[in-house]
Amino acid sequence: RLYNEVIELKGNIRVFCRCRPLNQDEIANGSTSIVDFDSSQENELQIICSDSSKKQFKFDHVFRPESDQEAVFAQTSPIVTSVLDGYNVCIFAYGQTGTGKTFTMEGTPEHRGVNYRTLEELFRISKQRSNIMNYELFVSMLEVYNEKIRDLLVENSNQPAKKLEIKQAAEGTQEVPGLVEARVYGTNEVWELLKSGSRIRSVGSTNANELSSRSHCLLRVTVKGENLVNGEKTRSHLWLVDLAGSERVGRIEVEGERLKESQFINKSLSALGDVISALASKTAHIPYRHISLPLSLHPPFSMNSKLTHMLQSSLGGDCKTLMFVQISPSAADLGETLCSLNFASRVR
Ligand code: ADP
Ligand code: MG
Repeated sequence: RLYNEVIELKGNIRVFCRCRPLNQDEIANGSTSIVDFDSSQENELQIICSDSSKKQFKFDHVFRPESDQEAVFAQTSPIVTSVLDGYNVCIFAYGQTGTGKTFTMEGTPEHRGVNYRTLEELFRISKQRSNIMNYELFVSMLEVYNEKIRDLLVENSNQPAKKLEIKQAAEGTQEVPGLVEARVYGTNEVWELLKSGSRIRSVGSTNANELSSRSHCLLRVTVKGENLVNGEKTRSHLWLVDLAGSERVGRIEVEGERLKESQFINKSLSALGDVISALASKTAHIPYRHISLPLSLHPPFSMNSKLTHMLQSSLGGDCKTLMFVQISPSAADLGETLCSLNFASRVR
């Protein structure tokens, strides 16, 4: 597993930037892209600011508007498949609403995203290893909205949402009792399962896109592995997270329910940024077996939002983290684009 070794040498946190293409409306408006890519550098981009000055950003990889889902997954696959080697892995899509978070993670039937491709790859490799390893794969899907956790894999979406809570397990891990864990056996059923989860996500809201932009959607893949040679058993989690939109809401809009929502989102996204940047700054000089402890000793980091609390044992230590920072190429989004890039630079 040469690629995984390379990742370890570079540290366990990586940040990819993905810029979506200009959309039909933007093209019709005559918008041009404010994002410049250096033809010789695969990991740099420049933002052309309103005064024509340029700001440069560097990431582990930069995906341009023409990069397709295959290209994105080619870079992602070594990280997600390390869950089969017993690593806990978290992948996040961060960014303003409309920049392609759901496109990257979920995708469309014609352009399937990271979630589906990941499961496809996990099935492929587990088959390949079936003479030495026996793997069982389980899928859970949940939503965090206003600090409330909702199961997205319940059979009947008309039932009142079961309230789920995070429990601290004896071995120091976090469990969500009652959360549906669906055993999956092959790719055929997976796309439908993921679709049914995202359908339930939009139930109860008049505008599906509206609600999904204010909630975090988490897909959890649990891998139980048994080494057929020495009987050793592993259980690891891969989290694939479509985060709530990172945009700051306009002052006028912010009142009542909307104010509460945006406060919860700000709090959980900044908690996540704090955790990842703390880990990123520590990986350089602390051997990572010590990292998981200091993290759990910092309740303000991990406990003050449901999102980071739930992911606590999958962040830090020898866990692997990947963040997609999604951006728009449009001049109208300049402010939010700079905010997202600055956020991502902080965690890198
Ligand atoms: P978000 O989840 O961040 O709000 P979406 O994933 O819903 O954004 O993307 C907004 C729109 O842009 C969707 O219609 C989506 O299909 C399209 N889109 C996003 N990224 C790309 C891309 N890289 N290539 C083509 N279309 C994209
Ligand atoms: Mg979305």
